[in-house]
Amino acid sequence: MGSDKPDAIVLGGGFAGLSCAVALAEKGKKVLVLDKKPHLGGRAYSFSENGLEIDNGQHLFMGCYFATRRFLKTIGTDHKLDIYRDVAVDYAESGGKRDRLSCPSWLPAPLHLAAGLLGLKGVSLREKVALVAFDLALKSMKSGPIPDAVEKMTVRQWLTSLGISPNFQTRFFDPAAIGILNDKPEVASAAGFIQALRAMFFAGRESSRFALAKTGLSELYTDAARDYVEARGGRVISNAKAASLIEEGGRVRGIVTDMDSRFESGHVVSTLPPWDLKKLRLPAALRGSWETLAPAPIVGATLKLDRPVMSERFLGMLNTETHWVFNKTLIHGSQEGGQTLAVVISGAHRHVGLPPEKILQIAVKDLTSCLPEFSKAKVLASKVVKEPFATLSPAPGSEAKRPEPGTGMPGFSFAGDWTRTGFPATIESACLSGQIAADRLP
Ligand SMILES: Cc1cc2nc3c(=O)[nH]c(=O)nc-3n(C[C@H](O)[C@H](O)[C@H](O)COP(=O)(O)OP(=O)(O)OC[C@H]3O[C@@H](n4cnc5c(N)ncnc54)[C@H](O)[C@@H]3O)c2cc1C
Repeated sequence: MGSDKPDAIVLGGGFAGLSCAVALAEKGKKVLVLDKKPHLGGRAYSFSENGLEIDNGQHLFMGCYFATRRFLKTIGTDHKLDIYRDVAVDYAESGGKRDRLSCPSWLPAPLHLAAGLLGLKGVSLREKVALVAFDLALKSMKSGPIPDAVEKMTVRQWLTSLGISPNFQTRFFDPAAIGILNDKPEVASAAGFIQALRAMFFAGRESSRFALAKTGLSELYTDAARDYVEARGGRVISNAKAASLIEEGGRVRGIVTDMDSRFESGHVVSTLPPWDLKKLRLPAALRGSWETLAPAPIVGATLKLDRPVMSERFLGMLNTETHWVFNKTLIHGSQEGGQTLAVVISGAHRHVGLPPEKILQIAVKDLTSCLPEFSKAKVLASKVVKEPFATLSPAPGSEAKRPEPGTGMPGFSFAGDWTRTGFPATIESACLSGQIAADRLP
């Protein structure tokens, strides 16, 4: 790029920033990406420690992550994302009891989901009658904005209003909602849940497929995205923390870092999460209700065991503090001996302040009660990762505070998973926001 001004500065090198930078580079723009951390990947990265390859938290992708898939395809790493053909989830609970949601492959969406739900063993036929009301409600909101009255309801209130029994909620809806929204059904708005369900189940079978990275998260996208941008004349700089925006004549003209370096450009796209962006010195025109958006934490642990204890790729755990367990050995196709598991506690407000040993104790207790083989296994290595600022807490009323991606003021646009993309704050929302912001640039 030499001393020339870049066509655009992208703040943040996570999924949103890198997908925005790649989309701009694809259009022939010279981009400068700045991230305050020494590594790229933001809230979705991996690292090695004690012989373990560890994601900062297990990330589940979906077939309906079309913007994400487009991004990976452009940078040439889509083959590192495994999209599974079967739409099935196994559940384990205390005493090793099992249940299975299996959506038959011969039925079109969303009938395959209905058939899968009808097949759940732990829910009575009488309880399943409520699926009719659920189906009608979802169909009435198939597209467009979620009605205000529903947006103001929590997931719990919405499901209860449809006559879905507490048992049915606990066994299917709660694990899905907490996985998607990263907060308890009593706290999370129904809007995000509905946005995700309709993207997964009303847009063809492919959309409801689960997908997981066959590699560590960083290997999935960070280096390939950097190479793509730099091969097209752009630059990616780490350890560069934006401190203020340069505003002249009602237009943003660049940024200044906390080390007083000045970078100028015709346009700045910010993909910083709201809690980081609001710390910058910003023009008054950019201030707004988005500054009150709050984060929700996730706590995870990776455990290397001396023997295999599960054969599935992942399991939902019912009536436990830990929500999901992933079989990293199978997912990565690793030939290592033993087995590596990753467990996840979403909406972990109560757990994020606990010491790592306590988190491990909880994980071990839950795995022992749900997986009969676990008590025979020895934990050879482990790592707990706490992410206090994991995702946007999707409380009722938050949707209206999310600015649209690509909007802002002259010379500046908002992007990031937390902007209003029609998706809850996920990887897909991040990638889509970055691509929309890139599209809207002159
Ligand atoms: C543990 C965990 C599990 C998750 N599980 C899932 C899942 O299963 N499925 C799913 O879809 N999503 C999941 N998510 C959410 C997903 O990770 C995020 O939605 C996504 O990574 C957000 O990307 P982003 O680019 O919008 O933001 P970020 O990744 O936060 O990127 C913003 C970047 O800005 C940088 N930055 C901040 N301030 C400054 C500054 N002043 N100057 C320069 N740079 C700055 C940060 O360092 C960061 O790299 C999970 C998140 C976590 C933490």
